[in-house]
Amino acid sequence: MNLRTPGPIPIPDEILQASAKQMINHRGPEFQDLVNNITQGLKQVYRTKNDVLTLTGSGTGSMEAAIVNTLSPGDTVLSVSIGVFGDRFAQIAEAYGAKVEKLTFPWGTAIDPNVLKETLDKMPNVKAVLVTHNETSTGVTNDLESVGKVIKDADKLLIVDAISSLSSLPFYTDDWGCDVVAAGSQKGWMVAPGLSFLSMSERAWSAFKESRMPKFYWDVGKAKSYLDRGQTPWTPAIAIMYGLEVSLKMLIDEGLDNVYDRHKAMGDKVREGVNNIGLELFAAESCASNTVTSVHIPDGIEAKELLGSLRTDYDVVIAGGQGSLDGKIMRIGHMGYVPDKDLTEALGSLKSGLDKAGFQPKYSGARG
Ligand SMILES: *Cc1c(COP(=O)(O)O)cnc(C)c1O
Repeated sequence: MNLRTPGPIPIPDEILQASAKQMINHRGPEFQDLVNNITQGLKQVYRTKNDVLTLTGSGTGSMEAAIVNTLSPGDTVLSVSIGVFGDRFAQIAEAYGAKVEKLTFPWGTAIDPNVLKETLDKMPNVKAVLVTHNETSTGVTNDLESVGKVIKDADKLLIVDAISSLSSLPFYTDDWGCDVVAAGSQKGWMVAPGLSFLSMSERAWSAFKESRMPKFYWDVGKAKSYLDRGQTPWTPAIAIMYGLEVSLKMLIDEGLDNVYDRHKAMGDKVREGVNNIGLELFAAESCASNTVTSVHIPDGIEAKELLGSLRTDYDVVIAGGQGSLDGKIMRIGHMGYVPDKDLTEALGSLKSGLDKAGFQPKYSGARG
């Protein structure tokens, strides 16, 4: 199957094999080596000196951990959203009793740092700002460096969902002033779903000490004190950690700058291919993501039927739209390890599937 969804993604063989190893005692010395190795590697990919914790749960788990460990009920937080995952961050904060102010930008566009600055200037009470680095639902990457600068100038806690960017797109936790950064294993990390990661700056640890939101499973204080002994508080997803140890080595051996360049090349290839078919990109060119490409479903084509026929006739799996974009866009994933031939085949199948469905390219960008 040519799995072109924005997570889970196909896993390279050597990582699959690593994950198939026999279990070990998670309170023993072998696990201590494993978790210490992983933590070292994660810090390199995060480009941080901060603590990075490995939590067992999906990406949303680390988003929840980010909220409950830094905030108290009644705290004012600014949620900056450009899509479904930005909205999810706000919902989590609301569920735990934060007072959530919202700043939204049209879906398909990125955060405008100037508007963010004006908003923050008017809201002195804001304690933390919630930002999605790469909005997977719309295929847009925010300029987190500029956004982070505005938030740091305003002296706020910067909490980032980097789940579909970190390990694929340029990311600099420390240089960009990110206090808390959430990531998830089934995205560019090239392993199975089930692990999530969370970095905590010194400022984030100070916030943790004051935070009064309820927490138990996601308590990062417990996670940190166990990690100092080479353990996790609860039984972790050991099999995924085996795989992660190998994938981190692959990413670091390749060189992070090369990984970023590879994703840029994949993004260019998919956008060009989609244009050539005569389809219209959904995200603005200036902020289009290099891990997931969003594409308008053309008039007269039924999204469900098209994606269904791609799956059954061509074995290519492309994601549909989420929320209000359901039926309106499709999303092609290109994060992690993607053989060039898989992308070429996915684009070829998309063209054939559209031809079969009677699609007639009408605008001038189409070159056949
Ligand atoms: C995948 C994803 C998530 C988390 O999803 P889970 O299903 O909980 O792993 C959150 N944010 C973004 C931007 C994502 O791409």
